[in-house]
Amino acid sequence: MKTTLRDYRSIIEPVWCPGCGDFGVLSALEKALGELDILPENIIAVSGIGCSGRLSHYLNTYSLHGTHGRAVPLALGAKAARPDLTVLAMGGDGDGLGIGGGHIVHAARKNVDITYLLLDNRIYGLTKGQSSPTTPIGRKTKTSPWGVYEDTLAAIPIFLAYDVSFVARGASVNVKELTGIIREAITHRGMSIVYVLSPCRTFPVLDFKAAKSMFTPLPPDHDRTDKMKAMALAYANDPMYTGVFYEVDKPTLNDRLDSEVRKAEAELGGRQATIEQLINHFI
Ligand code: SF4
Repeated sequence: MKTTLRDYRSIIEPVWCPGCGDFGVLSALEKALGELDILPENIIAVSGIGCSGRLSHYLNTYSLHGTHGRAVPLALGAKAARPDLTVLAMGGDGDGLGIGGGHIVHAARKNVDITYLLLDNRIYGLTKGQSSPTTPIGRKTKTSPWGVYEDTLAAIPIFLAYDVSFVARGASVNVKELTGIIREAITHRGMSIVYVLSPCRTFPVLDFKAAKSMFTPLPPDHDRTDKMKAMALAYANDPMYTGVFYEVDKPTLNDRLDSEVRKAEAELGGRQATIEQLINHFI
């Protein structure tokens, strides 16, 4: 029987502020999962700490709300153990680009087959308005009373430089487009990142009204295998492009692990190896 949107919504009522951009992301994610008809019991949603980390609470899937900045390594472990399941990681700009920023490059190197939804509202919202790595330079916040004096981190060029095998940007104000992007990200084999600009109502560093007119879809003839072109488009700010910047097909972590196991089994005479035999084979 085909799933319906209600199948993906947990019984927990969202406690986000009215009008929070994260509602748009939840809606797009539920729609994408419904269109792909993935059974909720075949999904693991792993989140970090922050307002967007609550996403995993509101999904009727297996979920894990981890510690700050650790959504990606937890999701990596889940996928390595259960490659048959759809594994989603999710969190905000502070969680994913600040505290947990160092994890993305290593997950990208492994090309673990997870989809990471990184929601950027350019502020730490849950802890009441401290500057994050994407708060614009000069902006006054609780932790920058004289204005942020650091450069703003450019997330998409970093993901491209890390060679994440699927890199996209969406906006919570454009739910229909975001649904399609998330759907493509989940079907991609390998690590996919959907970087979502999601305005915060309470600490509006990213202005909600402005967000409605600051994005435009990538040119229809954009070649998503052309990383250098993707890099140039990622730096454009007026307008800011949304869509899939880059996609490449390469072996995933589980492909590589499986190939090692097959090699060991072949050397053991083609039998399915026990854990002890595999360990003994490698030492
Ligand atoms: Fe959303 Fe901002 Fe409220 Fe957090 S503080 S729930 S990001 S509007």
